[in-house]
Amino acid sequence: MAELDYKVVVGLEIHVHLCTKTKMFCGCALSFGEEANSRVCPVCLGMPGVLPVMNKQALEYAIMVAMALNCEIAEFTKWDRKSYYYPDLPKNYQISQYDLPLSANGFIEIPLEGGKTKRIGIIRAHLEEDAGKNVHSEANFSQVDLNRAGTPLLEIVTCPDMNSASEVRALAVELQRIVRYLGVSEGDMQKGHMRFEPNINLIITKNGAEYKTPIAEVKNLNSFRALERSVEYEVQRQLDEFAETGKTIETGNKTTRGWVDEREVTVLQRKKEEAPDYRYFPEPDLVPVKLTKEWLAEIRGHLCELPINKQIRYVTEYKLSDYDAGVLTAERFTAEFFEQSVAAGGEPKRVCNLLTQTGLKIAKERGCGVCDLGIKAESLSELSKIVESGTVSSSAAVSIFEAMVETGKEPDILAEELNLIQKSDAGELELIVEHVLADNAKAVKDVKIGGKKSKKAHGFLLGQVMQKTRGQANPKVVSEILDKKLG
Ligand code: ZN
Ligand code: MN
Repeated sequence: MAELDYKVVVGLEIHVHLCTKTKMFCGCALSFGEEANSRVCPVCLGMPGVLPVMNKQALEYAIMVAMALNCEIAEFTKWDRKSYYYPDLPKNYQISQYDLPLSANGFIEIPLEGGKTKRIGIIRAHLEEDAGKNVHSEANFSQVDLNRAGTPLLEIVTCPDMNSASEVRALAVELQRIVRYLGVSEGDMQKGHMRFEPNINLIITKNGAEYKTPIAEVKNLNSFRALERSVEYEVQRQLDEFAETGKTIETGNKTTRGWVDEREVTVLQRKKEEAPDYRYFPEPDLVPVKLTKEWLAEIRGHLCELPINKQIRYVTEYKLSDYDAGVLTAERFTAEFFEQSVAAGGEPKRVCNLLTQTGLKIAKERGCGVCDLGIKAESLSELSKIVESGTVSSSAAVSIFEAMVETGKEPDILAEELNLIQKSDAGELELIVEHVLADNAKAVKDVKIGGKKSKKAHGFLLGQVMQKTRGQANPKVVSEILDKKLG
């Protein structure tokens, strides 16, 4: 077997639905799951003689994302027609952007294992409109639903800078986090708000020579899992194909492949069309857009701290682990709620634990966000403080958190009401300790012997005291009394 080494090369094309109120070039409301063809008008139905009008909000949302992706924003951008002849595209062309996209030359930082990041280049991001949907029935006919036709669509094209399926997934997840932070898309994969098309090939080194395999583009992936799995599948398929045919990028065609979810394989769809097939030409019905410095400054004012920057800052500023920082920054409002609680005096790690271990769990059970639980950031901060001071145990804090959600009462009041305040009164606890020591002569003897057995016996006695106080003793105080009594 010859020496064979290979490198995976992946670039991504991503389409993101922008969550404007109305469509890209008409006044129809955006919709999901409405009755078919109930959100349409002559413009998005492509009737003759109608005139499209640009949705300003969609353009501003697109520019926000482009800015977050560190792109250069064009001062002058225009619209082009991209010709297709598909049943779900009644105009027979899509309004898109060809040679003068609204932005280009940016980059995105993606998080990798262990708090590292990698920079992936962005070639361009432009705005276009989505097509409708073909609905295939069980019977031998298909129908067309044009509710989706004309939905504002941001297309982002990355450089082929990703070198593994997990990096591809990390980019997709990071982009979802960004568009959600910016509030420009719900990024709901199940509703098709984000669709991914990886371009994959390999650089194979064999006996000192380098070979590139033909590029395969996998169309229309709408889950992170399918995206990751399809890249993994393509890597193996291209290795096999190279071993069998020796085809390279020079001798083989670029192909378009589809992902079959049930079988977890990609299948050949067609040889790739080249750009001229689309017969791009400037859209005569829309005026080009001039972006003034003032307008761009106003749009820039709507940006927020990016999630990856927050994540890194949480590690350096609050000394959280990269994992915790990732969980807290997965969603913007959770991150902001955390920061408000810390600003109110909560110890960061304690607030983080309460939020990630209890808050997110309750929120998930209720199918809402942490900030929809009706708890004030100040109250969470208070809860963290009474745990920190030893007034309540961390397990009691879970019950108090739940009761806060149920009743809306403050943590100190609930601690009293639920009888969860730890007994730290040394006098009272000393009496209980004495009882326990009197009842457990063997354990007392073991403690005094020292060594491994001693530690175990000490733990046993502590447990007995905790049981007698029904878990309400402050274990730290009990342990101190035990040490004192046992010498
Ligand atoms: Zn319409
Ligand atoms: Mn596109």
